[in-house]
Amino acid sequence: MTEDCLFCKIVSGEIPSYRVYEDEAVYAFLDINPASEGHTLVAPKKHFNSFTDLGAEDIAALFEAAKKVTLALEKAFSANGMNIGVNNGEVAGQEVPHVHVHVIPRKKGDGGRGIKSIVWTEPDTANLEGMAEKIRKAF
Ligand SMILES: [Zn+2]
Repeated sequence: MTEDCLFCKIVSGEIPSYRVYEDEAVYAFLDINPASEGHTLVAPKKHFNSFTDLGAEDIAALFEAAKKVTLALEKAFSANGMNIGVNNGEVAGQEVPHVHVHVIPRKKGDGGRGIKSIVWTEPDTANLEGMAEKIRKAF
């Protein structure tokens, strides 16, 4: 637990939340400013600032829980689909520096769009092989 972290306080119960799911490693609760009905945040109980700080077991637990939440939201709200995503870093829209997965139920005709609507900078696609090579070299 990190003392000044909002989500650590939610996980510990110091700050109340609308809990929807909990297991040993993960706590899931309603986003109080939801993008759609049922919008849920799935967070590891242990504090991690960033997605890239998670170990393999942490990732497995987090995404297994996100899958369970997705299935429950489909059932609860008769959702036609789901956006499942992580805002990683402030520039990417991460508002609380405690890693969490957004699970956002979608319905036909809701007016929303897909994950590419988050950002569209029109990068040069003339050399996709060069782009892929640059990434491969970064591993
Ligand atoms: Zn935290």
